[in-house]
Amino acid sequence: MREQIEILASLQNVDRGIKEKNGAKKALAEEIRKREEELEVKKNEVAQLRAEWAEKDKLRQEREHLLQDEGRKAMDKRMRMSRIKNIRELQALQHEVDHIKQANGQLEEELIGILEDLEARAALLREKDTELKGLEQAWGEGKGELEARVAQIDKEVAETSAFRQTIVAQLNGELIERYELIFSRRGGMAVVAVSGGICQGCFMNIPPQLWNEIMKSERLNLCPSCHRILYYRPTVPSGKQI
Ligand SMILES: [Zn+2]
Repeated sequence: MREQIEILASLQNVDRGIKEKNGAKKALAEEIRKREEELEVKKNEVAQLRAEWAEKDKLRQEREHLLQDEGRKAMDKRMRMSRIKNIRELQALQHEVDHIKQANGQLEEELIGILEDLEARAALLREKDTELKGLEQAWGEGKGELEARVAQIDKEVAETSAFRQTIVAQLNGELIERYELIFSRRGGMAVVAVSGGICQGCFMNIPPQLWNEIMKSERLNLCPSCHRILYYRPTVPSGKQI
């Protein structure tokens, strides 16, 4: 059992490496997702501003056409006036022309307001569009780099996983199952040393009876508090390695 647990400890080292790499990959994927979302938000913002501008511009065109039509009507009426001799008819027409003129004055004022608004919207649109172009360019350069890092991690994990298989081949299947369960439940630490009578996983004292069992290492011993697999490592004076 001692040998099996030592192999298990080296499997754990490999698994911790894989876990760390997968964590880094997840962080990269999250960064890619966030950057793309940010870009999407900016795109939508620009599209929205563009649509609002276009709607306002349509209103401008409508008002301009109306102004032209009314202007033409006023001109026609004035031409008719030159051919009419009846004073009452003339007065009535003059009244109509005055009415159109007044309405057109208001239309012109409204148009000036619309044009000013359009100008402000166009300026904002240009500003946001420049921001979007900047983001797109930066992302065009940055995305490739992040994706290359993800691909590199995938390659490393694939290599490590192949190496892992050679270790797994040396272990008892039931032991691996047990180990994997503890590894996933205990934050990537399933096999821990007992040093100075203390579990190095949860730092609780190990009962003397269990301590003897661990030293003998005849069977699988689990920590009574954290349920990790325990193995014996003699306490050595600091500075020395075994
Ligand atoms: Zn423990």
